[in-house]
Amino acid sequence: MKGLMQRWPLLCSKVIDHAADCHGNREIVSRSVEGPIHRTTYAQVRERSRRLAQRLVAEGIRPGTRVATLAWNTWRHLECWYGIVGAGAVYHTLNPRLFPEQIAWIMNDAEDALLFADLTFLPLLEAILPKVPSIRKVVVLTDGAHMPQTNLPNAVPYEEWLAEADGDFRWVEVDEEDAAGMCYTSGTTGNPKGVVYSHRSNILHSFIALPGDAMGLTARDRVLAVVPLFHANGWGLAFSCPMAGASMVLPGPKLDGASVYELLTSERITFSAAVPTVWLMLLQHLEKTGGTLPDLKRVVIGGAACPRAVVEAFQNTYGVEVIHAWGMTEMSPLGTLCTLKPEVEHFEGAALLDLRSKQGHPPFGVEMTITGDDGTPRPRDGRTFGRLKVRGPAISSGYYKGHGAELFDADGWFDTGDVAHMDEHGYMQITDRAKDVIKSGGEWISSIDLENLAVGHPDVAEAAVIGLAHPRWDERPLLVVVPKDGASLTKEAILAFMEGKVAKWWMPDDVVFVEAIPHTAAGKIRKTELRDRFCDYRLP
Ligand code: ADP
Repeated sequence: MKGLMQRWPLLCSKVIDHAADCHGNREIVSRSVEGPIHRTTYAQVRERSRRLAQRLVAEGIRPGTRVATLAWNTWRHLECWYGIVGAGAVYHTLNPRLFPEQIAWIMNDAEDALLFADLTFLPLLEAILPKVPSIRKVVVLTDGAHMPQTNLPNAVPYEEWLAEADGDFRWVEVDEEDAAGMCYTSGTTGNPKGVVYSHRSNILHSFIALPGDAMGLTARDRVLAVVPLFHANGWGLAFSCPMAGASMVLPGPKLDGASVYELLTSERITFSAAVPTVWLMLLQHLEKTGGTLPDLKRVVIGGAACPRAVVEAFQNTYGVEVIHAWGMTEMSPLGTLCTLKPEVEHFEGAALLDLRSKQGHPPFGVEMTITGDDGTPRPRDGRTFGRLKVRGPAISSGYYKGHGAELFDADGWFDTGDVAHMDEHGYMQITDRAKDVIKSGGEWISSIDLENLAVGHPDVAEAAVIGLAHPRWDERPLLVVVPKDGASLTKEAILAFMEGKVAKWWMPDDVVFVEAIPHTAAGKIRKTELRDRFCDYRLP
């Protein structure tokens, strides 16, 4: 017997309809690329997205066509997402921090037909678009008054282009399983791979992300979405905020500590989400200026391991709850969040900090297993590492054009490439990426644990640990440190600080000081580059 319930297709356009109908006056506040703060509402975003969809259809964009965006988080970028999905097309976010050749490669792989781009990126596009023949038009996210001279073919200012539509338009009907969005993994190894989200997976991901023990967003929240829409599906915030009716505040191009702080206070932000680098910059700014965070209640920190010192500063100095989260582009992206189960609610002091430094537990909709290389599950003892595998309705079943098929097994598990353990309460902790663990004398050393420990030193701005070849032990750890401005840090001081906090054989064999550590486009430490740079380094 079948159930007798309505078939209500899970389409992304339903989210903006809900927000406009039920939370129509809620604010969307943006720092515009032109400079000033801009204010709009969900009702207006729907109205303009509808015109945008109508314009796209008039341009010949058909269901399934890829429409690229190269843009910061602003109301216009949000309108693009909803207009593109509302035309039945596929938003394809491009990450401007990639190398220009990589961006061109990705656009060609996706065969993007039209591009929405911020003013910031016109020089970049002038250099690469001649190599991307599929692009028919560039819509520059500004108005006629701010439109610069450009030799890009078919470049038009967004506001004037949008004004050509009257808004008499119904969303194009597509199937909920049809593609809605695309995002390429940054491809630290090999070429980038295309992840393709469906309407259904985006909606289910928002249902996965919203419960109280996940992001827990409400219509009373004012969310500063620092994480760019081009990083891992924007962590789903473009769908989960309007679904919850939460206000969105979008930082535009300015992600430095002072600019983020200004929005946190002037817009009375209650919730925010970003990678650790952003929070490190904010905390350094607060340390310098003596600022406080009276409205901010929760921050989601993910994309890379959140240093314990960051959890501690937010929690103990500023009274902000840190929700450490782990995810991947392939997971839409949420995988786990570190919120408190009753079993651990009584934890205090160091025990609580240790727990908060874990990546957490999966919400309903993410299944997780940790196995040995032979596929057998590892014990949940909080110690035994293994390969982390996941499955669920908002997790990739394959990459665009069939790349990377070896990562998906017959039982539907996707091998994340991360190494992790799980404790008896079900809290997962990433110990490394499979390719970054340091293999010393047949045992594994977690580079992440050592980095977290090192950044706990008050004079350390940033730290990275890599394995260097060693004649006796295979590999041994080298600690690479960026000291804080003006600090006079020595190798002995930092090693003494770490001594006793990790097993003796985990201690780095040497410490080198550098001015800067290279980062990937997503703000993560680029270990491949560090390994190349120090490949001839002789450990003592
Ligand atoms: P890319 O692989 O292109 O850098 P992703 O954002 O999809 O882009 O990266 C996902 C990876 O980031 C995960 O597989 C994991 O290695 C790492 N990661 C994400 N969140 C965390 C976290 N909280 N702690 C440690 N590593 C994390």
